[in-house]
Amino acid sequence: MKFTDIISSQRPTVSFEFFPPKSDQAASDLYDAADHLRALRPSFITVTYGAGGGTRERTRKLVMRLNSETGLTTVPHLTCVGATRDELAAIVQEYVDHGIENLLALRGDPPEEHCGPYEPTPGGFRYANELVAFLKAEFPNLGIGVAGYPEGHPETRDKLLDIENLKRKVDAGADLVITQLFFDNRDFYDFVARCELEKIAVPIIAGIMPIQSLAGARKMSGMCGARLPASLLRGIDRAQGDKQAVRHVGTHWAAEQCRDLLDHNVAGIHLYTLNKSSATRRIYENLGVKHSDALSQ
Ligand SMILES: Cc1cc2nc3c(=O)[nH]c(=O)nc-3n(C[C@H](O)[C@H](O)[C@H](O)COP(=O)(O)OP(=O)(O)OC[C@H]3O[C@@H](n4cnc5c(N)ncnc54)[C@H](O)[C@@H]3O)c2cc1C
Repeated sequence: MKFTDIISSQRPTVSFEFFPPKSDQAASDLYDAADHLRALRPSFITVTYGAGGGTRERTRKLVMRLNSETGLTTVPHLTCVGATRDELAAIVQEYVDHGIENLLALRGDPPEEHCGPYEPTPGGFRYANELVAFLKAEFPNLGIGVAGYPEGHPETRDKLLDIENLKRKVDAGADLVITQLFFDNRDFYDFVARCELEKIAVPIIAGIMPIQSLAGARKMSGMCGARLPASLLRGIDRAQGDKQAVRHVGTHWAAEQCRDLLDHNVAGIHLYTLNKSSATRRIYENLGVKHSDALSQ
């Protein structure tokens, strides 16, 4: 189903994000998780494209398999890193030929070993809005999502400019925005209000990650700049390194974020599953629902 149809028939949307596994065991765990999560009836699922464009083939394989085996609307992430427009067009054409109807269009980040700012590949794109415009021109039937940053994108210190840059992506044809993960809903509400002032009228879907370990949380926070609130850090501290207790704190925090977002009539929630089903299932239990349809009643 295309984003526009999903948006018009479901509020809130609920989506789950997966990343390409690195080993056979990780792949088998992921397919088990996806199978369990299917019962929660997500609006769509997404598959990341490794930083630096490094998982191109693994992303493709996972997208194709999840799309055909789960029957869920599967949305590949696509970045501009290391690819010309012809190469990007070839990747997208293959997706379209296999029934993929939507993409998350991103600029991406340079590979880790590359020091310094993002440099576009010759014959490629500098910013995501250029990729969106290209997709809109070459694949007009494709649904397109883009990334948004409640706490601002780390490269653009001027947060007003960052929202103007988001508007460029929406004006180029994006159907919805999925946000970077955040741990304080006030950042999200303020972001949505600033988007409204900028006349960004597409749905803004909240990115939520249930923390499963302090190391993982620090890594994600370091990578994307998401602020870890003191109250959440205190909760993790109290767990005193007990892994299960830390997971409980992180999942409870994410469930409370979701409850509050639903109370505020959020357009959608995008859960970073980390390729596991347990935290996501526990969030649904905490919300008192068996599947996503019940969230809109
Ligand atoms: C939901 C979500 C999913 C993600 N999935 C992946 C993934 O699968 N793989 C991956 O590698 N990364 C992923 N990322 C990370 C993303 O690739 C990085 O944050 C990247 O640095 C920016 O990508 P973008 O599409 O937001 O870029 P852009 O929208 O191009 O923005 C990049 C920076 O440039 C600025 N900018 C944008 N347009 C202009 C312009 N015209 N003129 C001047 N400045 C401009 C922006 O303000 C911003 O600071 C994801 C992020 C999110 C929020």
